[in-house]
Amino acid sequence: MTFFENTLKLIERAAEIVKLDKNVLNVLSKPQRIVEVNFPVKLDNGSIEIFTGYRVQHSDAAGPFKGGIRYHQDVSMDEVKALASLMTMKCAVVELPLGGAKGGITFDPSKYSKNELERITRAFVIMIEPLIGPDKDVPAPDVNTDEHVMAWIADEFSKLHEESVKGVVTGKPVMYGGSKGRFDATSRGGTFILHEVLGDGGRKPQDTTVAIQGYGNVGGNIANLLAAEGFKVVAVSDSHGGLYCPHGLDALATMECKVKEGSVTECGGSQYQPSQGDSCREVSNEELLELDCDVLILAALENQITADNADKIKSKLILEMANGPITAEADEILAKKNITIIPDILANAGGVTVSYFEMVQNKQDYYWEADEIEEKLKKIMVNAWKKVKATSEKYSTSYRLAAFIVALERLKEILILRGTV
Ligand code: GLU
Repeated sequence: MTFFENTLKLIERAAEIVKLDKNVLNVLSKPQRIVEVNFPVKLDNGSIEIFTGYRVQHSDAAGPFKGGIRYHQDVSMDEVKALASLMTMKCAVVELPLGGAKGGITFDPSKYSKNELERITRAFVIMIEPLIGPDKDVPAPDVNTDEHVMAWIADEFSKLHEESVKGVVTGKPVMYGGSKGRFDATSRGGTFILHEVLGDGGRKPQDTTVAIQGYGNVGGNIANLLAAEGFKVVAVSDSHGGLYCPHGLDALATMECKVKEGSVTECGGSQYQPSQGDSCREVSNEELLELDCDVLILAALENQITADNADKIKSKLILEMANGPITAEADEILAKKNITIIPDILANAGGVTVSYFEMVQNKQDYYWEADEIEEKLKKIMVNAWKKVKATSEKYSTSYRLAAFIVALERLKEILILRGTV
């Protein structure tokens, strides 16, 4: 089953529980617009390479299309369709006046120079320019794209329009129309939800061990935030492999080491983990998933827990900070093992929520303080959690299906109000 088919399957399961109007499901089962672009870019050595990129606009029922742009060698139309539909659902769960979209370019950015990345980004913007705009479709960072890439996008789009259009993307640098708190908003949003969930179970941070798969913007920041709150972060990993320190690793030193050495696998020595003796050891990404820890945080890519490894998962609580890290089949296996999953469309919605704040600030060109943003973000995340929890109790279903139900019911109302169904 492909990632998009998987996503549809989960949405259909939720629709079935609430006997959702077939027309609503049909409208949301297909993206409104899918675009593939192919464009040549001159590389530093003078050769020409043709790049393939995508933008999928899944639904603008609730407002302008919204969603990140990913640079990765595995980007495909199917993946982008799945991610775009998850964006529609995510924005609906946290009640943002935004639709869902996603984009990407199929290439490994680590193999290109900074100048090449800039030229690839600008060439992509020229190709998708007719589709995007502050009230049309607003891209943002995703896997392997950051504030710098967003600044190039805003700059190129502004040049094409011969005026300043900073609001065409979110996740920009704070100095150039970005929002305070956006860089770690996804991670911070996840910690708010985790607190709510653990609060319900009466567990204290210092008694809670956490393993984190993925050490990009989301995984790295959530490791820092949780460690600062006293959680015992025992394992982290990146695309090269993982590091396991049973007594809890030093998150900040690990972050510094990763920047210096290139991978967390190099960060187990006593210079980085002085309080661990020689207890740290390298683990593979697969082993990390199977560690016996209280909370497992998935912050890498999709399809990490599948029917093949679901049975081996020991953690009783999974926080999905990546999009689609658990397949539909694995979801059923984990449910039978009584493993609680806090689903992506709720857990990682903090990023797009602060993106929405950035859009609002850009419209006014007036910028808010960090504490104001954090407070507003917390309110939205906690409200969404309460709604999902109540829905899960009402229908005796998982948090994942409850989150989809919350999203679908909201989208249904909007589609009725707009006269679509
Ligand atoms: N790429 C992020 C996500 O998957 C953020 C999207 C946005 O801010 O528009 O939620």
